[in-house]
Amino acid sequence: MQKKVHMAFGVFCGLVALYFLRVPFGVWSISSITNASLFLAAAFVASTIPDYDLLIPGMRHRGISHSLLALMVVTIISTIAGLYFKHDTLFWFCAGFPIGYLSHLISDSFTDHRVAWLQPFDNTPYGYPIFNTGSALIQGILMILLWCANGALIYLILGG
Ligand SMILES: [Zn+2]
Repeated sequence: MQKKVHMAFGVFCGLVALYFLRVPFGVWSISSITNASLFLAAAFVASTIPDYDLLIPGMRHRGISHSLLALMVVTIISTIAGLYFKHDTLFWFCAGFPIGYLSHLISDSFTDHRVAWLQPFDNTPYGYPIFNTGSALIQGILMILLWCANGALIYLILGG
């Protein structure tokens, strides 16, 4: 799947998480909009991280970076960093990071290659192949739909 589709889906997952987090926060204030922006920025950035395996010599694409184990490591590191920054707005960046990483694995699971979530213990690819990673048309349509959904979610979150 193309990087820009991963980013759009990362933001989508971040917005869905924010939508459900909205209740305890009540009305959005300037500070919570800053926090939400950091949360979404982290989801946006982290949504591309698993594919950096392409840049590491000797590392197999959709190998260990595309697994529950990698997601657990990212979540543990983000939690430790989040606890360190717990009184800082950076906490929200740490909170959004695993969401973006997870979004990448979910979206790759719906491509023809799918994802071997249980690596290195089981290399069986899991998922439901709906999208062809080679089709620029499908990816373009997906991206438009995702950004429309993201706009609708922002409208909902802001109380529209
Ligand atoms: Zn990937």
